Amino acid sequence: MDLIKELEGCRTILLTGHIRPDGDCIGSVMGMYLYLSKVLKDVTIIPMIEKPAPEFGCIKDIDKICSDFEPGIQQFDAFIGLDSSTTDRYGDALKFYESAKKRIIIDHHVSNDGFGDICVIDGEASSTCELLLRFMDEDMLDEEIAKAIYIGIIHDTGVLRFSNVRPATLIACAKLISYGFDYPRIIDETYYEKTRIQNEMLGRALVESILFMNGKCIVSKIDQETMDFYGATPHDLEGIVNQLKNTKGVEVAIFMYELAPQSYKVSLRSAGNVDVSKIAKFYNGGGHVRAAGFSMNGTFHDIVNNLSDSIAMQLEG
Ligand code: 5GP
Ligand code: MN
Repeated sequence: MDLIKELEGCRTILLTGHIRPDGDCIGSVMGMYLYLSKVLKDVTIIPMIEKPAPEFGCIKDIDKICSDFEPGIQQFDAFIGLDSSTTDRYGDALKFYESAKKRIIIDHHVSNDGFGDICVIDGEASSTCELLLRFMDEDMLDEEIAKAIYIGIIHDTGVLRFSNVRPATLIACAKLISYGFDYPRIIDETYYEKTRIQNEMLGRALVESILFMNGKCIVSKIDQETMDFYGATPHDLEGIVNQLKNTKGVEVAIFMYELAPQSYKVSLRSAGNVDVSKIAKFYNGGGHVRAAGFSMNGTFHDIVNNLSDSIAMQLEG
């Protein structure tokens, strides 16, 4: 795809990602925003996602994000959807997808079925940010664009240690860090540093976790009452599922938190023998082979029972 050619004649462009934006979502929306703002003149470009967590404050122009979903434009010439595998994950930006004259979808989730006029979906790419580099003219990159994209790759690869890292990922990172931003500081500040509340939630989730299926699965949850007690938000629970998965012998880690009474957001991580994206898709979610998620109504026990059946089928089948 020749992105700039596809955007020819467009006067208004909306860039968006998914609800509860993570590092790859924020990095891809902002990297693309900074790039297009530089390349396209006299075009209104709106980055639109929920307000990013404070640690992403190091990204240039992050304050330009339209988080109230009221850009003062009803219909955009182009809608660019990044890092979202389904339209329902656009949240309040969905109406702009529906009304847009042209829809461009760029994503790296295997579960993405493609729902745009132009779709670039590569399940092999580590992150949407890695994919974006394909559409960017190297001569137009700069330190700030490189930093935003680097943050996305770092976050979706667990600092370049997950199995989605390919030689192309490292080559991309090598190119990006050559722009000279302080990458060790960025990794620490956006990825590793945790607030006291975040550490308390992690501690609770680990202590209260339960092993089942002969130690092949681990599950833990945080309910609304606990979140209220600590003053925690869903963002404070990110990363807990990865830590659960680090338990020796575990094939699948499940972490869930209560969205509302009897309604949970579920995160799945796999060591590789179970394709959790298949399971998540079955429950109307999505993701990757080793990392996926969905939301579901029911009690904690209902959900665990359902999931154990799905996991057992794959492990035994
Ligand atoms: P997490 O467990 O960190 O929320 O998400 C892991 C992966 O699964 C991410 O790539 C994310 O995009 C995907 N994912 C998580 N929850 C959902 C969901 O409710 N629907 C879809 N389609 N994908 C999800
Ligand atoms: Mn991603």
